[in-house]
Amino acid sequence: MYLTHLECPRCGREHDAGKPRNLCDCGSPVLARYDLAAVAEVVTPERFGLRPADLWRYRELLPVADPRHVTTLGEGWTPLLRAPAYGAEIGIPELLVKDEGLTPTGSFKARGAAVGVSRARELGVERIAMPTNGNAGAAWATYAARAGLRATVVMPVDAPVVCRRECVAAGADLRLVDGLISDAGRLVAELVASSAGAVFDAGTLREPYRLEGKKTMGYEIVEQLGWQAPDVIIYPTGGGVGLIGIHKALHELRELGWIGDRLPRLVAVQSTGCAPIVRAFAAGEERAQPWADAKTVAFGITVPAPLGDELILAALRASGGTAVAVEDAEILADLRDFAAREGLLLCPEGATCLTAARQLRAGGWIRAGERVVVLNTGAGLKYPETVDVTGVPVLA
Ligand SMILES: *Cc1c(COP(=O)(O)O)cnc(C)c1O
Repeated sequence: MYLTHLECPRCGREHDAGKPRNLCDCGSPVLARYDLAAVAEVVTPERFGLRPADLWRYRELLPVADPRHVTTLGEGWTPLLRAPAYGAEIGIPELLVKDEGLTPTGSFKARGAAVGVSRARELGVERIAMPTNGNAGAAWATYAARAGLRATVVMPVDAPVVCRRECVAAGADLRLVDGLISDAGRLVAELVASSAGAVFDAGTLREPYRLEGKKTMGYEIVEQLGWQAPDVIIYPTGGGVGLIGIHKALHELRELGWIGDRLPRLVAVQSTGCAPIVRAFAAGEERAQPWADAKTVAFGITVPAPLGDELILAALRASGGTAVAVEDAEILADLRDFAAREGLLLCPEGATCLTAARQLRAGGWIRAGERVVVLNTGAGLKYPETVDVTGVPVLA
Protein backbone atom coordinates (compact mmCIF):
# COMPACT_ATOMS: atom_id res chain seq x y z
CA MET A 1 0.00 0.00 0.00
CA TYR A 2 1.23 3.50 -0.85
CA LEU A 3 -0.92 5.43 1.64
CA THR A 4 1.55 7.31 3.86
CA HIS A 5 -0.44 9.61 6.13
CA LEU A 6 -3.45 11.89 6.56
CA GLU A 7 -3.03 15.61 6.09
CA CYS A 8 -5.11 18.56 7.20
CA PRO A 9 -5.60 20.94 4.25
CA ARG A 10 -6.36 23.82 6.64
CA CYS A 11 -3.59 23.74 9.26
CA GLY A 12 -1.16 21.36 7.55
CA ARG A 13 -0.96 18.99 10.48
CA GLU A 14 -0.19 15.34 9.70
CA HIS A 15 -2.06 12.42 11.24
CA ASP A 16 -1.43 8.69 11.49
CA ALA A 17 -3.34 6.81 8.78
CA GLY A 18 -3.02 3.56 10.70
CA LYS A 19 -5.96 4.14 13.01
CA PRO A 20 -9.53 5.39 12.59
CA ARG A 21 -9.58 9.18 12.25
CA ASN A 22 -12.29 11.80 12.00
CA LEU A 23 -11.67 15.57 11.67
CA CYS A 24 -8.40 17.35 12.41
CA ASP A 25 -8.21 19.02 15.82
CA CYS A 26 -8.71 22.35 14.00
CA GLY A 27 -12.12 21.12 12.74
CA SER A 28 -11.22 20.55 9.10
CA PRO A 29 -11.70 17.30 7.16
CA VAL A 30 -8.40 15.46 6.55
CA LEU A 31 -7.12 14.07 3.24
CA ALA A 32 -5.31 10.81 2.47
CA ARG A 33 -1.79 11.19 1.05
CA TYR A 34 0.22 8.65 -0.92
CA ASP A 35 3.81 8.13 -1.96
CA LEU A 36 3.07 9.07 -5.57
CA ALA A 37 6.70 8.84 -6.66
CA ALA A 38 6.70 5.19 -5.60
CA VAL A 39 3.36 4.59 -7.34
CA ALA A 40 4.78 6.03 -10.58
CA GLU A 41 7.60 3.49 -10.37
CA VAL A 42 5.41 0.42 -10.00
CA VAL A 43 2.57 1.15 -12.42
CA THR A 44 1.94 2.96 -15.71
CA PRO A 45 -1.41 4.16 -17.10
CA GLU A 46 -1.42 1.41 -19.73
CA ARG A 47 -1.48 -1.25 -17.00
CA PHE A 48 -4.89 -0.17 -15.70
CA GLY A 49 -6.52 -1.08 -18.99
CA LEU A 50 -5.57 -4.73 -18.43
CA ARG A 51 -7.29 -4.90 -15.05
CA PRO A 52 -10.91 -5.68 -14.07
CA ALA A 53 -13.50 -3.00 -14.87
CA ASP A 54 -14.13 -1.66 -11.38
CA LEU A 55 -12.65 1.09 -9.22
CA TRP A 56 -10.20 -1.31 -7.55
CA ARG A 57 -8.16 -1.21 -10.75
CA TYR A 58 -6.61 1.93 -9.17
CA ARG A 59 -5.60 -0.01 -6.04
CA GLU A 60 -2.16 1.64 -5.73
CA LEU A 61 -4.01 4.94 -5.27
CA LEU A 62 -6.51 3.57 -2.77
CA PRO A 63 -6.17 3.10 1.01
CA VAL A 64 -6.63 -0.65 1.50
CA ALA A 65 -3.49 -2.65 2.36
CA ASP A 66 -4.85 -6.19 2.41
CA PRO A 67 -6.99 -7.30 -0.57
CA ARG A 68 -8.96 -9.53 1.80
CA HIS A 69 -10.45 -6.38 3.33
CA VAL A 70 -11.84 -5.15 0.03
CA THR A 71 -15.64 -5.13 0.21
CA THR A 72 -17.02 -4.93 -3.30
CA LEU A 73 -20.19 -5.29 -5.35
CA GLY A 74 -18.39 -4.49 -8.60
CA GLU A 75 -18.63 -0.68 -8.25
CA GLY A 76 -16.96 1.70 -10.68
CA TRP A 77 -15.99 1.84 -14.35
CA THR A 78 -19.37 3.27 -15.32
CA PRO A 79 -19.94 4.33 -18.93
CA LEU A 80 -18.96 7.75 -20.25
CA LEU A 81 -21.77 8.23 -22.75
CA ARG A 82 -21.96 10.62 -25.67
CA ALA A 83 -25.12 12.72 -25.88
CA PRO A 84 -25.00 14.03 -29.45
CA ALA A 85 -28.68 14.91 -29.92
CA TYR A 86 -29.09 16.83 -26.70
CA GLY A 87 -25.55 18.22 -27.00
CA ALA A 88 -26.28 19.64 -30.47
CA GLU A 89 -29.46 21.25 -29.16
CA ILE A 90 -27.61 23.15 -26.43
CA GLY A 91 -24.52 23.94 -28.51
CA ILE A 92 -22.17 21.43 -26.87
CA PRO A 93 -21.60 18.66 -29.43
CA GLU A 94 -18.88 17.18 -27.19
CA LEU A 95 -21.23 16.65 -24.25
CA LEU A 96 -20.51 13.46 -22.28
CA VAL A 97 -22.44 11.91 -19.39
CA LYS A 98 -20.64 9.86 -16.75
CA ASP A 99 -23.51 7.55 -15.85
CA GLU A 100 -23.27 6.59 -12.20
CA GLY A 101 -26.83 5.27 -12.38
CA LEU A 102 -25.34 1.86 -13.17
CA THR A 103 -23.46 1.68 -9.87
CA PRO A 104 -24.55 -0.84 -7.18
CA THR A 105 -27.27 0.68 -4.93
CA GLY A 106 -28.17 3.00 -7.82
CA SER A 107 -25.93 5.94 -6.96
CA PHE A 108 -22.26 6.93 -6.94
CA LYS A 109 -22.40 6.83 -3.14
CA ALA A 110 -21.45 3.17 -3.54
CA ARG A 111 -17.92 4.24 -4.54
CA GLY A 112 -17.41 6.06 -1.27
CA ALA A 113 -19.07 3.28 0.71
CA ALA A 114 -17.00 0.52 -0.89
CA VAL A 115 -13.69 2.21 -0.07
CA GLY A 116 -14.83 3.72 3.24
CA VAL A 117 -16.25 0.45 4.58
CA SER A 118 -13.25 -1.56 3.33
CA ARG A 119 -10.81 0.71 5.13
CA ALA A 120 -12.94 0.96 8.29
CA ARG A 121 -13.00 -2.84 8.47
CA GLU A 122 -9.25 -2.98 7.92
CA LEU A 123 -8.75 -0.57 10.82
CA GLY A 124 -10.92 -2.68 13.12
CA VAL A 125 -14.09 -0.56 13.18
CA GLU A 126 -17.14 -2.65 14.09
CA ARG A 127 -19.95 -0.13 14.16
CA ILE A 128 -20.58 3.01 12.09
CA ALA A 129 -23.19 5.77 12.16
CA MET A 130 -24.03 8.50 9.66
CA PRO A 131 -26.54 11.18 8.67
CA THR A 132 -27.64 11.04 5.03
CA ASN A 133 -30.04 12.42 2.42
CA GLY A 134 -30.75 8.81 1.46
CA ASN A 135 -28.29 7.42 -1.06
CA ALA A 136 -25.21 7.46 1.16
CA GLY A 137 -27.13 5.69 3.91
CA ALA A 138 -28.40 3.07 1.47
CA ALA A 139 -24.90 2.49 0.12
CA TRP A 140 -23.13 2.36 3.49
CA ALA A 141 -25.83 0.09 4.98
CA THR A 142 -25.40 -2.24 2.01
CA TYR A 143 -21.58 -2.40 2.12
CA ALA A 144 -21.60 -2.59 5.92
CA ALA A 145 -23.85 -5.65 5.68
CA ARG A 146 -21.44 -7.22 3.22
CA ALA A 147 -18.46 -6.45 5.46
CA GLY A 148 -20.15 -7.61 8.65
CA LEU A 149 -20.23 -4.15 10.26
CA ARG A 150 -23.21 -2.73 12.11
CA ALA A 151 -24.63 0.53 10.76
CA THR A 152 -26.89 3.22 12.18
CA VAL A 153 -28.33 5.49 9.49
CA VAL A 154 -30.28 8.68 10.19
CA MET A 155 -32.17 10.36 7.33
CA PRO A 156 -34.89 12.97 6.83
CA VAL A 157 -38.44 11.60 6.47
CA ASP A 158 -38.56 13.37 3.10
CA ALA A 159 -35.62 11.36 1.66
CA PRO A 160 -36.53 9.00 -1.20
CA VAL A 161 -38.47 6.08 0.32
CA VAL A 162 -36.49 3.55 -1.70
CA CYS A 163 -33.36 4.51 0.29
CA ARG A 164 -35.24 3.79 3.51
CA ARG A 165 -36.13 0.35 2.15
CA GLU A 166 -32.53 -0.33 1.10
CA CYS A 167 -31.32 0.38 4.66
CA VAL A 168 -33.94 -1.89 6.19
CA ALA A 169 -33.20 -4.65 3.68
CA ALA A 170 -29.51 -4.46 4.61
CA GLY A 171 -30.37 -4.87 8.29
CA ALA A 172 -29.23 -1.38 9.32
CA ASP A 173 -30.52 0.43 12.38
CA LEU A 174 -32.51 3.14 10.54
CA ARG A 175 -33.87 6.29 12.17
CA LEU A 176 -35.90 9.06 10.57
CA VAL A 177 -35.92 12.74 11.52
CA ASP A 178 -38.58 15.30 10.72
CA GLY A 179 -36.01 17.79 9.42
CA LEU A 180 -32.94 18.15 7.19
CA ILE A 181 -29.63 16.30 6.97
CA SER A 182 -28.17 18.82 9.43
CA ASP A 183 -30.74 17.69 12.02
CA ALA A 184 -29.83 14.06 11.31
CA GLY A 185 -26.19 15.08 11.85
CA ARG A 186 -26.93 16.35 15.35
CA LEU A 187 -28.52 13.03 16.27
CA VAL A 188 -25.49 11.10 14.98
CA ALA A 189 -23.10 13.38 16.87
CA GLU A 190 -24.98 12.60 20.11
CA LEU A 191 -24.94 8.88 19.42
CA VAL A 192 -21.20 8.87 18.67
CA ALA A 193 -20.37 11.05 21.69
CA SER A 194 -22.28 8.78 24.07
CA SER A 195 -20.81 5.54 22.67
CA ALA A 196 -17.40 5.81 24.37
CA GLY A 197 -15.60 5.13 21.08
CA ALA A 198 -17.73 2.13 20.10
CA VAL A 199 -19.44 3.91 17.18
CA PHE A 200 -17.37 5.42 14.36
CA ASP A 201 -18.74 8.57 12.69
CA ALA A 202 -18.79 7.83 8.95
CA GLY A 203 -20.61 11.05 7.98
CA THR A 204 -19.69 13.07 4.88
CA LEU A 205 -16.02 14.18 5.08
CA ARG A 206 -15.88 13.21 8.76
CA GLU A 207 -13.65 10.32 7.77
CA PRO A 208 -11.13 10.56 4.90
CA TYR A 209 -11.84 7.43 2.83
CA ARG A 210 -15.27 8.04 1.34
CA LEU A 211 -13.54 10.78 -0.65
CA GLU A 212 -10.95 8.26 -1.85
CA GLY A 213 -13.71 6.14 -3.32
CA LYS A 214 -15.40 9.06 -5.01
CA LYS A 215 -12.18 10.44 -6.48
CA THR A 216 -12.02 7.39 -8.75
CA MET A 217 -14.64 9.11 -10.94
CA GLY A 218 -11.86 11.55 -11.84
CA TYR A 219 -9.43 8.76 -12.76
CA GLU A 220 -12.06 7.01 -14.84
CA ILE A 221 -13.10 10.09 -16.81
CA VAL A 222 -9.46 10.71 -17.74
CA GLU A 223 -8.73 7.06 -18.56
CA GLN A 224 -11.93 6.77 -20.62
CA LEU A 225 -10.83 9.79 -22.67
CA GLY A 226 -7.50 8.09 -23.43
CA TRP A 227 -5.66 9.78 -20.52
CA GLN A 228 -6.85 13.22 -21.60
CA ALA A 229 -8.62 15.66 -19.31
CA PRO A 230 -11.87 17.22 -20.60
CA ASP A 231 -12.30 21.03 -20.67
CA VAL A 232 -15.11 21.22 -18.11
CA ILE A 233 -16.59 18.87 -15.48
CA ILE A 234 -20.02 19.73 -14.04
CA TYR A 235 -21.00 18.29 -10.67
CA PRO A 236 -24.25 18.44 -8.63
CA THR A 237 -22.92 19.65 -5.30
CA GLY A 238 -24.36 18.78 -1.91
CA GLY A 239 -21.62 17.85 0.55
CA GLY A 240 -19.19 18.27 -2.35
CA VAL A 241 -17.29 15.02 -1.78
CA GLY A 242 -17.31 14.09 -5.46
CA LEU A 243 -16.12 17.52 -6.54
CA ILE A 244 -13.32 17.65 -3.99
CA GLY A 245 -12.47 14.04 -4.88
CA ILE A 246 -12.30 14.68 -8.63
CA HIS A 247 -10.13 17.73 -7.99
CA LYS A 248 -7.81 15.63 -5.80
CA ALA A 249 -7.69 12.86 -8.42
CA LEU A 250 -6.73 15.28 -11.19
CA HIS A 251 -3.92 16.74 -9.09
CA GLU A 252 -2.65 13.26 -8.25
CA LEU A 253 -2.64 12.33 -11.95
CA ARG A 254 -0.75 15.50 -12.77
CA GLU A 255 1.80 14.82 -10.05
CA LEU A 256 2.18 11.27 -11.35
CA GLY A 257 2.94 12.78 -14.76
CA TRP A 258 0.06 10.89 -16.37
CA ILE A 259 -1.76 14.00 -17.62
CA GLY A 260 -0.54 17.45 -18.66
CA ASP A 261 -0.73 20.70 -16.73
CA ARG A 262 -4.03 21.91 -18.15
CA LEU A 263 -6.78 20.69 -15.83
CA PRO A 264 -10.55 20.89 -16.36
CA ARG A 265 -12.60 23.81 -15.02
CA LEU A 266 -14.85 22.44 -12.30
CA VAL A 267 -18.44 23.61 -11.97
CA ALA A 268 -20.54 23.17 -8.82
CA VAL A 269 -24.28 23.12 -9.53
CA GLN A 270 -26.86 23.66 -6.83
CA SER A 271 -30.59 24.31 -6.79
CA THR A 272 -31.83 27.87 -6.19
CA GLY A 273 -33.65 26.24 -3.24
CA CYS A 274 -30.35 25.42 -1.51
CA ALA A 275 -27.28 27.20 -2.85
CA PRO A 276 -24.83 28.02 -0.03
CA ILE A 277 -21.76 27.31 -2.20
CA VAL A 278 -23.02 29.40 -5.13
CA ARG A 279 -23.70 32.32 -2.81
CA ALA A 280 -20.27 32.11 -1.17
CA PHE A 281 -18.51 31.72 -4.52
CA ALA A 282 -20.26 34.79 -5.95
CA ALA A 283 -19.37 36.82 -2.84
CA GLY A 284 -15.72 35.79 -3.06
CA GLU A 285 -15.85 34.15 0.36
CA GLU A 286 -13.76 31.26 1.64
CA ARG A 287 -16.48 29.75 3.80
CA ALA A 288 -20.22 29.31 3.14
CA GLN A 289 -22.98 30.44 5.47
CA PRO A 290 -25.81 27.97 6.27
CA TRP A 291 -28.76 28.18 3.86
CA ALA A 292 -32.13 28.79 5.54
CA ASP A 293 -35.28 26.85 4.52
CA ALA A 294 -33.46 24.55 2.12
CA LYS A 295 -35.77 22.77 -0.31
CA THR A 296 -35.32 21.30 -3.80
CA VAL A 297 -36.51 18.46 -6.00
CA ALA A 298 -32.83 17.44 -6.25
CA PHE A 299 -32.96 15.98 -2.75
CA GLY A 300 -29.44 14.58 -2.72
CA ILE A 301 -27.96 18.08 -2.89
CA THR A 302 -30.10 19.58 -0.11
CA VAL A 303 -27.11 20.28 2.14
CA PRO A 304 -27.58 23.66 3.86
CA ALA A 305 -24.17 23.74 5.61
CA PRO A 306 -21.56 21.53 3.89
CA LEU A 307 -18.58 20.66 6.10
CA GLY A 308 -16.30 20.77 3.04
CA ASP A 309 -17.25 24.32 2.02
CA GLU A 310 -13.65 25.59 2.12
CA LEU A 311 -12.37 22.67 0.05
CA ILE A 312 -15.18 23.00 -2.51
CA LEU A 313 -14.64 26.74 -2.95
CA ALA A 314 -10.87 26.30 -3.18
CA ALA A 315 -11.25 23.60 -5.85
CA LEU A 316 -13.58 25.78 -7.92
CA ARG A 317 -11.21 28.74 -7.79
CA ALA A 318 -8.01 26.77 -8.34
CA SER A 319 -9.47 25.17 -11.45
CA GLY A 320 -10.82 28.41 -12.95
CA GLY A 321 -14.30 27.00 -12.45
CA THR A 322 -17.59 28.46 -11.29
CA ALA A 323 -20.76 27.76 -9.31
CA VAL A 324 -24.32 28.07 -10.60
CA ALA A 325 -27.78 27.72 -9.11
CA VAL A 326 -30.64 26.37 -11.24
CA GLU A 327 -34.43 26.34 -10.82
CA ASP A 328 -36.32 23.16 -9.97
CA ALA A 329 -38.78 23.61 -12.86
CA GLU A 330 -35.91 23.82 -15.35
CA ILE A 331 -34.18 20.79 -13.84
CA LEU A 332 -37.30 18.69 -14.37
CA ALA A 333 -37.87 20.05 -17.90
CA ASP A 334 -34.28 19.27 -18.88
CA LEU A 335 -34.54 15.81 -17.32
CA ARG A 336 -37.56 15.02 -19.52
CA ASP A 337 -36.06 16.59 -22.64
CA PHE A 338 -32.83 14.63 -22.20
CA ALA A 339 -34.64 11.32 -21.62
CA ALA A 340 -36.68 11.76 -24.79
CA ARG A 341 -33.66 12.70 -26.93
CA GLU A 342 -31.02 10.40 -25.51
CA GLY A 343 -32.95 7.52 -23.96
CA LEU A 344 -31.39 7.93 -20.55
CA LEU A 345 -33.42 8.84 -17.49
CA LEU A 346 -31.21 10.91 -15.19
CA CYS A 347 -31.69 11.45 -11.48
CA PRO A 348 -32.82 15.02 -10.66
CA GLU A 349 -29.36 15.83 -9.23
CA GLY A 350 -27.76 14.74 -12.50
CA ALA A 351 -30.27 16.78 -14.48
CA THR A 352 -29.13 19.95 -12.66
CA CYS A 353 -25.88 19.58 -14.63
CA LEU A 354 -27.77 19.76 -17.94
CA THR A 355 -29.48 22.98 -16.94
CA ALA A 356 -26.14 24.41 -15.85
CA ALA A 357 -24.41 23.29 -19.07
CA ARG A 358 -27.14 24.85 -21.19
CA GLN A 359 -26.98 28.15 -19.30
CA LEU A 360 -23.18 28.32 -19.22
CA ARG A 361 -23.00 27.65 -22.97
CA ALA A 362 -25.68 30.27 -23.70
CA GLY A 363 -23.76 32.80 -21.61
CA GLY A 364 -20.47 31.96 -23.34
CA TRP A 365 -18.68 30.59 -20.25
CA ILE A 366 -18.50 27.23 -22.01
CA ARG A 367 -16.93 27.95 -25.38
CA ALA A 368 -17.75 26.43 -28.77
CA GLY A 369 -16.15 23.02 -29.25
CA GLU A 370 -15.28 22.41 -25.62
CA ARG A 371 -15.54 18.91 -24.25
CA VAL A 372 -17.88 18.89 -21.26
CA VAL A 373 -18.47 15.99 -18.85
CA VAL A 374 -21.58 16.02 -16.65
CA LEU A 375 -22.06 13.63 -13.75
CA ASN A 376 -25.29 11.69 -13.53
CA THR A 377 -24.85 10.75 -9.90
CA GLY A 378 -27.69 8.24 -9.60
CA ALA A 379 -30.25 6.11 -11.39
CA GLY A 380 -33.35 7.90 -12.63
CA LEU A 381 -35.30 4.78 -11.65
CA LYS A 382 -34.83 5.66 -7.96
CA TYR A 383 -36.94 8.81 -8.53
CA PRO A 384 -40.05 7.63 -10.43
CA GLU A 385 -42.05 10.70 -9.38
CA THR A 386 -39.98 12.98 -11.64
CA VAL A 387 -42.04 11.66 -14.55
CA ASP A 388 -45.76 12.44 -14.49
CA VAL A 389 -47.90 9.66 -15.93
CA THR A 390 -51.34 10.99 -15.09
CA GLY A 391 -53.40 11.20 -18.25
CA VAL A 392 -51.83 8.14 -19.86
CA PRO A 393 -54.90 6.26 -21.18
CA VAL A 394 -55.79 2.83 -19.84
CA LEU A 395 -57.20 0.74 -22.67
CA ALA A 396 -60.23 -1.41 -22.03
C1 LIG B 1 -25.15 12.64 -2.42
C2 LIG B 1 -25.62 12.94 -3.79
C3 LIG B 1 -25.14 14.06 -4.50
C4 LIG B 1 -24.20 15.06 -3.89
O1 LIG B 1 -22.97 14.48 -3.64
P1 LIG B 1 -21.85 15.23 -2.81
O2 LIG B 1 -20.61 14.57 -3.19
O3 LIG B 1 -22.21 15.05 -1.37
O4 LIG B 1 -21.89 16.66 -3.20
C5 LIG B 1 -25.54 14.22 -5.80
N1 LIG B 1 -26.41 13.36 -6.38
C6 LIG B 1 -26.90 12.29 -5.73
C7 LIG B 1 -27.86 11.38 -6.46
C8 LIG B 1 -26.53 12.04 -4.42
O5 LIG B 1 -27.01 10.98 -3.79
